[in-house]
Amino acid sequence: MSSTTLQELTPYTGVEPDEAWAQEVRRLARERDAVLLAHNYQVPAIQDVADHTGDSLALSRIAAASDASTIVFCGVHFMAETAKILAPEKTVLIPDARAGCSLADSITGAQLRAWKAEHPGAVVVSYVNTTAEVKAETDICCTSSNAVDVVASIPADQEVLFCPDQFLGAHVKRETGRDNIHVWAGECHVHAGINGPELAERAAANPGADLFIHPECGCATSALYLAGEGTVPAEKVKILSTGDMVHEARATSASTVLVATEIGMLHQLRKAAPEIDFRAVNDRASCRYMKMITPAALLRALREGADEVHVDAETAAKARASVQRMIEIGKPGGGE
Ligand code: SF4
Repeated sequence: MSSTTLQELTPYTGVEPDEAWAQEVRRLARERDAVLLAHNYQVPAIQDVADHTGDSLALSRIAAASDASTIVFCGVHFMAETAKILAPEKTVLIPDARAGCSLADSITGAQLRAWKAEHPGAVVVSYVNTTAEVKAETDICCTSSNAVDVVASIPADQEVLFCPDQFLGAHVKRETGRDNIHVWAGECHVHAGINGPELAERAAANPGADLFIHPECGCATSALYLAGEGTVPAEKVKILSTGDMVHEARATSASTVLVATEIGMLHQLRKAAPEIDFRAVNDRASCRYMKMITPAALLRALREGADEVHVDAETAAKARASVQRMIEIGKPGGGE
C-alpha cells in the first residue's frame, strides 16, 4: 500500500466503541475461534478489547503459540504478514488490508534485488518493518532492540546492506563503528516528523524527565547528541522498542517521561504506570495507517472473515528463515 494513496483511503466508520460493541466483538471472536491481537499504536478501544496488546514481534510470537485457529491482527499489513509467516497453518485476518506502512513501502523486493546485485557478497539486514517479499530476500531480520547485535555478529570484513530505516541504520552504524555498512534511505513519515529541535525544546522545558525514544525517530540522533553535550543527562535518554518502553515505565523512578514515538503508545504506558506523567514529544505523531483499524473495521472482519492475509509458501519459507535468525541473536525485544 503506497503512502501516496493514503489520502484516497476512507476508513470504515459508523460504529461507536461502546460496551455493546466490545461484547459483540468478543462473542464473534469466540464463535470464530479467533485470538485478537492489537499493536501498541492502535486506538485505545481496540487495545482494550484485544486479548493481547504489544509490539509487532511479541504479537507474532503470541500468534504462533496460540491455540486459536484464527488470528485477527489489529495493526498494519506487514505485521499481519509476519504473523502468517510464523503461523502458516492459521487463518490470519487484518480488519483493513489497506493499512500499509510508509517505512515498509520504502523498499520493494525488486529494489532490494537490484541493490544486492550492486554489492555481491554483502549480508542483508532488514528491520522487521518490511514486506514478506523483502524478508525473503534478507539474510537476517532485526528489531530495534537487537539491530546492533545482529550487525556486530557479521564478520567485520563483510559488507552489510541495512534497510529500510535510515535513522535506525545511522544508530547501528554509530554503535558498531563499521564503515562497510550501506544504509537504505527509507523512513517512516510519522517517526521522521519527530525532530531534534522539538525534542531539545521539550527536554529543556521538562528538566528531570526521562526521554523514551524509539530509534526510528528522526530525533534519536539528536537525543544521543544532547546526551553527549551534557544538555540532557545520558542516563535519562533511553532508546527503546515499544515493548521495552512498557518495561522501562514500570522500572523508572522519574515522575515525568517524554515519549518520542507514535502517540498510541501513551495509552499502554499510562496503564502500566498511572503515577507517571507521560507526555508526547510531538502530539501530532499519529499513524494514519494504524488508525485505519477502526471499531467498524474490526466488527466487519469478525463478521465477514475479511481481509484474509496470504503469503505464498516459497516466500514464507525464505522469510521465516530470516526472521528465525533474528530471534536467535541478542535480545530481539519486540520491534516497533
Ligand atoms: S508509525 Fe510509521 S513505521 Fe509504524 S506502521 Fe505507521 S508508517 Fe509504519
